[in-house]
Formats: sequence, structure tokens, C-alpha cells
Amino acid sequence: MQARLRPCPATAPPSRWDRLRRWVLRIGLARANLLYTGLVLAASMSITTLITVLAGRALPPALFATAVCVLSVAPVTGYVILKLLYELEASRLRIRQLAITDELTDSFNRRHFVELGEAELLRARRYGTPLALILLDADHFKQVNDTHGHQCGDVLLREISLACRATLRSTDLLARFGGEELVVLLPQTDLAGALAMAERMRDQVAGLSLAWRGRTVEVTVSLGVAALRPETPTLDALVHEADVALYEAKRGGRNRVCVASAGRRGASAA
Ligand code: GH3
Ligand code: MG
Ligand code: MG
Repeated sequence: MQARLRPCPATAPPSRWDRLRRWVLRIGLARANLLYTGLVLAASMSITTLITVLAGRALPPALFATAVCVLSVAPVTGYVILKLLYELEASRLRIRQLAITDELTDSFNRRHFVELGEAELLRARRYGTPLALILLDADHFKQVNDTHGHQCGDVLLREISLACRATLRSTDLLARFGGEELVVLLPQTDLAGALAMAERMRDQVAGLSLAWRGRTVEVTVSLGVAALRPETPTLDALVHEADVALYEAKRGGRNRVCVASAGRRGASAA
């Protein structure tokens, strides 16, 4: 799941200019220019016809002159204007993508996760649907960096993110929460479902084997799981519950999944 572009709930609805820029990006520069030239030609011919008829002059030479003028100028001006619009929209999308993505793991960044997470929490409350959250932390990651170098740590972190993403559904939200910590929000998922998902993620990461400068690097992760309850006040509180469970997973020996105590069903370990 590539970091998906989603309209941010806090942003204003698109203006007419926004829609025009998106339209140009969607249909492509050549087609937009063709349409633009056609429109300018049709408008110019109509005006010429009106003026020529009103003036009582011969229509064909006037129409011919108009067509020559329009066809020699409109494609060039159209290209320049539409190319600017096209590039503006492409840059805007790229900037937006950068603003919501964590470059290293190619997942959402924390800020965007919080934005989307709060919207999901409101939705879950409103429609009474389940919502769960998983916090994941790489085990002994400092040791990985110390032994194999920071660059290896970076590659491994990306691999962990990819392995987790492979287990998720398209509606789940994966983000880098900070350092070697990832967070997953699972809409429409209860505690049992989230526990199974966390266990799959743990298993996927435990199966990773990175070849690095002639050596094999392996890693495990610990995970804390929490599900939304009526008394969970905020997304922050849900994250906190998962964090407490994660701490328990660390204390219990790492490479395991623990559930927030309020909804505890037990812990699983490798
Ligand atoms: P624990 O099992 O208790 O989580 O041990 P740990 O070593 O993973 O935890 P600790 O908090 O002591 O260290 C976290 C390490 O993660 C240290 C830091 O250098 C590393 N780290 C955080 N972010 C990055 C990153 O972006 N790239 C790399 N390579 N390392 C990172
Ligand atoms: Mg760690
Ligand atoms: Mg950590």
C-alpha cells in the first residue's frame, strides 16, 4: 500500500481553479491544448461571422483570415498556459505527497496519521463501528545500528515497514510514529482482529532476512494492541493504551504481541 493521497478533512473544498488544474493533469497537456484551440477557434469564428454579417462583407475571406490567425497563435499560447497549469498541479500534488509521507519508510508521517486517525475515530464513534490501533517497535534496534551501521538500520526499517504493509488491507493506515516505531490504525476491526493482524505483522518481520555486506541481518518487533472503547476519550488515549501494551511486550521478552489491559485477552509470543 503506497502512501495514499486522501483529501485532508481540514482542507477547504476545491476551487474552480483547483478543478481546472486537476482536469488538465487528468486529460494531459496535448488533449487539453487541442480542446483549448478548438474552443478559441469556435469562439473567434462566431465573432467574425457576427461582425462580418453585420458589416455586410463577404464571409469566406474573413473566416479564412480568422482561422489562420487563431491556428497560428492559439496552440502556442495554449501550450504555454496549460503547461504552467499542468506543472503547477503536478508540483502541488508532489508537495502534498511529501508533506504527508515519511521518506524513509514510504508510509504516512505522524502528523498525517493523527489527522486521518482523528477523523476515523469520529467516524467509528458516530456509526458505532470498531476501531483498533497497533503500535510496533523494532527490538534492540540500537544494537543493529551499532553492529551493522546506521545505513543498514535505515534499510531494515524500510523492510519492516514493507513487511507490515504487505499484511494490511487498503483501508488500514500505516505510519511511522517516530524513530523505529510504526503505528497502524485498523478501521472496522475489533480487538481480536487487530490481535490477529499484529501477530501476522510480527511473524512477517521475524521472517525477514537482510543480506548486508556479506552478513545476514535479522530483526524482531514488539507490538502493543488497543481497541476503541466507549470510554476511550481521544486518539491520544488509544495510542497511550497501545503504548502501555507495547511496553509490556518489551518487558515480557520482546518479539511478541500484547493487548492493552482494559481489553486484555492475553499476549502471544514467538
Ligand atoms: P528496544 O528493544 O527496547 O526497543 O531497544 P532499542 O535499541 O530498539 O531501543 P532504543 O530506544 O534504546 O533505541 C532505539 C534505536 O533506534 C536508537 C536509534 O538510533 C534507532 N533509530 C531510530 N530512528 C532510526 C532511523 O531512522 N534509522 C536508524 N538506522 N536507526 C534509528
Ligand atoms: Mg526499539
Ligand atoms: Mg523505540
